[in-house]
Amino acid sequence: MNHLMKAAVFHGIRDVRIEEVPRPTAGPGEVVLRVLRCSVCGTDKRIFTHGQKNVVPPAITGHEIVGTVHELGSGVDKGLRIGQEAVVATVVGCGKCIYCQRKQYNLCDSFTALGYDYAGGFAEYVKIPAPAVAQGNVIPIPGSMSRERAALIEPLSCCLNGQEYLSPQPGDRAVVFGAGPIGLMHASILKARGCTPVIVADVSQERLDYVREFELGLPVNTSAGDAVNKILAAGAGEKYDIAITACSVKAAQADALKLVRKKARVSFFAGVPKDDPILPMDSNLIHYNEVSIFGCFASNLQHYHQALAMVSRDDLPWERFLTHRFKLQDMVKAYAVIEAGQGIKTVIDCE
Ligand SMILES: [Zn+2]
Ligand SMILES: [Zn+2]
Repeated sequence: MNHLMKAAVFHGIRDVRIEEVPRPTAGPGEVVLRVLRCSVCGTDKRIFTHGQKNVVPPAITGHEIVGTVHELGSGVDKGLRIGQEAVVATVVGCGKCIYCQRKQYNLCDSFTALGYDYAGGFAEYVKIPAPAVAQGNVIPIPGSMSRERAALIEPLSCCLNGQEYLSPQPGDRAVVFGAGPIGLMHASILKARGCTPVIVADVSQERLDYVREFELGLPVNTSAGDAVNKILAAGAGEKYDIAITACSVKAAQADALKLVRKKARVSFFAGVPKDDPILPMDSNLIHYNEVSIFGCFASNLQHYHQALAMVSRDDLPWERFLTHRFKLQDMVKAYAVIEAGQGIKTVIDCE
């Protein structure tokens, strides 16, 4: 018997259709999840508007997946049981390269990913391929955890990876460039770790209003220019120990370097447009001031486990991050909301 499921199928740029497609079944080593929620990442929207080379239509995207274990393939032995709720780690390492040997799967030289190379979570069911299951990518969550919080684990895991290099300490002065979902998550983590002040800079007042509303830090609107002086003034003229660029703007990287003090740690968390990546900087400032600059790409398994613990905290406004929710049927509306820059995080209810 051939079972069908509903899925949002990407057929090409700005062409996503809700269709009935064959429901996946679990082969040896594989796991099929019934998808409960799948939040929409900035990259999902970018695939919708621009396409991406490892997403070959017809394809199902979506990698911020929360589901229940529906079917276990033969030989799956990861302590998983039917009906258990779980989130899914996105990146699947090749298992052979030097980074995979070091268990740094997100840095694998030839990684594949759920929602890109494999069908993702904008569907009623998703199949987790055997290498992903074997790597430990199906991560059980407590049944008591709200699906809304669980839907934040994947993006939060990326922020935790970036911040691992920064080791924020209580009393550290921090500045975050960008008040999108990722910038707000960074601010939340910095606040949770006792940094003060936490400045969040953006050009959108609508986004900055969330910073104040959620009490995540001090919002600074840099739309009228002179970001450096505005950010300095907001922090009583003193420089910062930590700076994170959570926006794809090269000027923010340059500004971050101007705003940090001695022994500061800087995360170039977001990439910049690939046709203009060269950043002029005074390397002597890095040298004399012992400033460290770090990159970040996606996240590794331990960051998911850390994110799971972090969304369990009740002192941060996790549920309120999900400002928009759509049924799978309305996938295209979700992309429109994100394209318009509305709200913080949009989640698809696939139940
Ligand atoms: Zn994501
Ligand atoms: Zn590898």
